[in-house]
Amino acid sequence: MANLHQQTIAVHGGYSPKNGEPRVMPIVQSTTFKYESSDQMANLFALTEAGYFYTRLANPTVDTEAARIVELEGGVAGFCTSSGQAASFYSIFNIASAGDHIISSSNIYGGTYNLFAATFKRMGIDFTFVNPAASLEDLAKEIRPNTKAVFGETLANPALSVLDIEKFAKLAHDAGLPLIVDNTFPTPYLCQPIKHGADIVIHSTTKYLDGHGTSVGGVVVDSGNFDWAAHADKFPGLTTPDPTYNNIIYTDTFGSAAYALKGIVQLLRDLGSSQSPFNAYLTLNGMTTLGLRMERHSSNALAVAEFLEAHPKVKAVNYPGLSSSHCHDLAHKYLPKGCSGVLTFEIDSDAAGPSKLQDALKVIAIATHVADAKSCILHPARTTHAQLSPDALAEAGVSPTQLRLSVGIEDVRDLIADLEQALSHI
Ligand SMILES: *Cc1c(COP(=O)(O)O)cnc(C)c1O
Repeated sequence: MANLHQQTIAVHGGYSPKNGEPRVMPIVQSTTFKYESSDQMANLFALTEAGYFYTRLANPTVDTEAARIVELEGGVAGFCTSSGQAASFYSIFNIASAGDHIISSSNIYGGTYNLFAATFKRMGIDFTFVNPAASLEDLAKEIRPNTKAVFGETLANPALSVLDIEKFAKLAHDAGLPLIVDNTFPTPYLCQPIKHGADIVIHSTTKYLDGHGTSVGGVVVDSGNFDWAAHADKFPGLTTPDPTYNNIIYTDTFGSAAYALKGIVQLLRDLGSSQSPFNAYLTLNGMTTLGLRMERHSSNALAVAEFLEAHPKVKAVNYPGLSSSHCHDLAHKYLPKGCSGVLTFEIDSDAAGPSKLQDALKVIAIATHVADAKSCILHPARTTHAQLSPDALAEAGVSPTQLRLSVGIEDVRDLIADLEQALSHI
């Protein structure tokens, strides 16, 4: 059936069992797949016939997960990876090589920043980090002849700023470049970046897509909208023969799914970082409740943000759903169904206050993770950002008494009561 709604796709997407087949997509825990004829096996390797032959490239359970996320995002094809970091890496490396340049929003996940600023640099791929609030005109000045893509995060972790996807899509498309968006925090339930012009969407499925804190994973989704052949000189990897694959030209052979298929048959083949069938199985089961969870995460986080904002011991709260947020207008446009579950707040205390508050919490746990069913809290100045000098902390927008709270799907009355009793200790 066409035009199904997001929560229906979250339950059924990518899998329609036939008569007598399992209702739940099973874990196909097999590295290999058997064939009757040597011709058929040769055809699979030559990519002239479709089918599974080795789980590093494709596996039925993992493919079901990818297909469900592709459907939720409104893309044409995609593939899962072993982690969100691998998805970020592949999304860039699929179209950039030594000597190339990428423009990225500076409001991105810390792990992505390290990957871009340090590891890609060692491979000869340079990044320019831009202030996402800058004007289109100023952003366009950063584009170089060797720029290959523009990158941003829908709802940045942990800055919680909302990306103006349409502005970034225009920046990219005016220069003949694709826009890659990390949509981890909203999930496709709260935002579909492709509808706003993104060409490639990636996720750390580790977060809300799994949603239960069980499985590290990632995914790359191809919208099918970017015309690689129209900019053939910029993307020779997609538009000229690949000698490692019978000289196929990806855009000729796979049409609008060229980017995704190149990622599978070339990058997954050569670099690995495939997702395990077991993690895919757990992520598929987690995704079944995606809509219910994202609605509850969003309503709980808004209620907690409002409670904290009114509390005398709280100096500031950063949550795009609050009308006081500097991103409220962008949130209204891109996140109309809710702003997901993560917020940060700053308490009015000495440097010891955040520790006292955390140690007093009973329901909300101290944990590094974010974005799953169970509420958790972290003090960036003593953990993720502990190696930064006071000046660098200020530059990163992290105050010494700031806390990051990932609001789970518990009864919000218990979360507020827990914060209230813990705040009384400072
Ligand atoms: C966690 C995270 C990643 C990295 O994902 P892993 O699955 O931990 O490798 C990338 N982007 C964002 C926005 C994240 O929150």
